[in-house]
Amino acid sequence: MKKVMALLLIILIGVMGIAFLEDKKQVLEEEAVPSPTPSPTVPTVVVTMPPEPEDIPDFYSTDSLLIVANKVHKLPDGYEPSDLTRPNVATSADWMLREPAARALEEMFAAAENDGVHMVLGSAYRSEAYQRQLWNSYAAQYSPERADRISSRPGYSDHQTGLAVDIVQGMNTGLGTDFNETFENTPEAKWLHEHAQEYGWIMRYPKGKEDITGYAYEPWHFRYIGKEYAEAVYAVDEWETFEEYFNVEGGTEYKE
Ligand code: ZN
Repeated sequence: MKKVMALLLIILIGVMGIAFLEDKKQVLEEEAVPSPTPSPTVPTVVVTMPPEPEDIPDFYSTDSLLIVANKVHKLPDGYEPSDLTRPNVATSADWMLREPAARALEEMFAAAENDGVHMVLGSAYRSEAYQRQLWNSYAAQYSPERADRISSRPGYSDHQTGLAVDIVQGMNTGLGTDFNETFENTPEAKWLHEHAQEYGWIMRYPKGKEDITGYAYEPWHFRYIGKEYAEAVYAVDEWETFEEYFNVEGGTEYKE
């Protein structure tokens, strides 16, 4: 009798179990989301976004690393960069540069040192007032015409951007290569011509480009424009000018 009761109990539990699972299945089926009715086809619209502002070369804003200073582009009156700082490099005086240029110059000088090349910073940021004195002294020493070939009038100098440097062998080498074309034969000039662009600098007044840049060849004057652009300029040609690469107006005649 007990065996029969036990067997019935097992069957009962089994039946209840199946019933329970069947219920569950139904609940799950009821919860299933009905498939949506297909919506009508919407034509695809391709929206072309304008380039991001930082991708557009900006030649006229003082915030821009591409700001142009040449004989047809004068800087704002009395412009003085707000982030001037002293780069930690061998230097002839207390020269200052804009922050990004100062850091890039330190990087470049360290790399040159590693290659056994000892460069000295011979000039960097020059105020409008300083540039006025400099141009006047050249004009008095030579002539106003000569002063215009080798120097800038106040307000037009690449040095006033805080992004330009003159690199020399040093004021006390006695070799006479500082600030003249013979600098191109020095190890410093050769190293710079080969590597400056890797650190964001370009030769601002290349050989044979006076009609475009407005200035005689200066193998010692370099301008910071950032690594990407500097590499791109040199990729075109080792004597490519800023004006040519960016299609910016230049020339030897001053435009007031
Ligand atoms: Zn210079």
